[in-house]
Amino acid sequence: MPVTVRFAPSPTGLLHVGNARTALINQLLVLKQGGTFVLRVDDTDLERSKKEFETAIEADLAWLGFRIDAKVKQSDRFKLYDAAAAKLKAAGLLYPCYETEDELDRKRKIQRAQGQPPVYDRAALTLTDADKAKFDAAGRKPHWRFKLSHTTVEWTDQVRGASHIDTGSISDPILVREDGSYLYTLPSVVDDLDLAITHVVRGEDHVTNSGAQIEIYTALGGRPPLFAHTPLLVGADGEKLSKRFGSLALAEFRAAGIEPLALSSLLAKIGTSDSVEVRADMARLADEFDFAKIGRAPARFDEAELKRLNAQLLHETPYERVADRLAALGVDGGADFWDVARANVETLGDAASWWKVVSGPVDPVSVDAAFAAAAADSVPDGPYTAESWTVFTDAVKEKTGAKGKNLFMPLRLALTGRPRGPEMDKLFVLIGPEKAKKRLQGEAA
Ligand code: GLU
Repeated sequence: MPVTVRFAPSPTGLLHVGNARTALINQLLVLKQGGTFVLRVDDTDLERSKKEFETAIEADLAWLGFRIDAKVKQSDRFKLYDAAAAKLKAAGLLYPCYETEDELDRKRKIQRAQGQPPVYDRAALTLTDADKAKFDAAGRKPHWRFKLSHTTVEWTDQVRGASHIDTGSISDPILVREDGSYLYTLPSVVDDLDLAITHVVRGEDHVTNSGAQIEIYTALGGRPPLFAHTPLLVGADGEKLSKRFGSLALAEFRAAGIEPLALSSLLAKIGTSDSVEVRADMARLADEFDFAKIGRAPARFDEAELKRLNAQLLHETPYERVADRLAALGVDGGADFWDVARANVETLGDAASWWKVVSGPVDPVSVDAAFAAAAADSVPDGPYTAESWTVFTDAVKEKTGAKGKNLFMPLRLALTGRPRGPEMDKLFVLIGPEKAKKRLQGEAA
């Protein structure tokens, strides 16, 4: 059955990995089942919402390679919310409240002191028309609360299974502020109904909201969608997410050279019954996606694992898939170079430094002078083949008597400037006779 899902970020900041995971699960569901992925920009807070964040969010989703089938902005849809609010008012389900923030604060403090939960006491429901007229005359504007049913709302969560919220245990949610602006709760429900959203997939910090929202879908004459509340992300230690990449913004991972598919693979697999492995395309991740695999425990997001997946992905990436990006990095060794270097990169940027090892100049590293001179003399003429390295090292061995590590380490150091790296027989072909000779002679080449 085709689905319609929405990913609904507020453009009040950059996307972080937690948002990305929510977006990813929505995306995988659509790729697997077919249907529509709606990007819903939750910008009802006109003051905090910024166009630059909206643009950055779209750039991040594009970087992740997500398919976006439709985009709506809540700021374009106030008429719908006004109509819904009017409907709820007419039904007596949206009622005016005049308490100030301070008054509400005081009430909550008293409730807490008495060991009671800080749930709104519905005092405003007892206001008479005369009371309200007095407030209005004094220039006090009401905010508006939705009157919950105080029953138990039940749903079958796609992740959490049989779920319920006793709406008697939560405050009637404020839907409209004193200045007439909307909080998130009502517009979200109105849009879900208007856009015929079939699945609301979001973090489990929204479970309580869902209790209230299910009552609002119904009060508006609609049918609630299915819900999937996914456990939140925690760090490798099971505690807080760490910020080794600077912040948890996707832009940071991107700047650190993380491949989108490495990130998506990790985010798709952690907290599920699948093993954490990298996948080379979204189709495969979608194929393997199933709500039933998502566990109830928080998903551990480990940057070390991300780096490992990133390296693994690159090791398996064929040249055609990175050719353009390599060219942009100034790496023009083609597939021959990539095939030699890829096993030694953790990020694509590493390819540029290996390319420098091939193309030069490599700063000379001092090795035993007599050994180096003998080796320089033994450099065979080109063009090189896969056997040239053996021909060369056999000759050096014969001339100097060095073998094993004492033979190979100084050669690697002199030829590449580094103690480790890609296989020398392959690198030697790319470096070629001229540069090899110069490097062994201690020249920067
Ligand atoms: N803008 C809301 C948020 O980012 C959307 C929640 C939802 O998916 O309903 O938390």
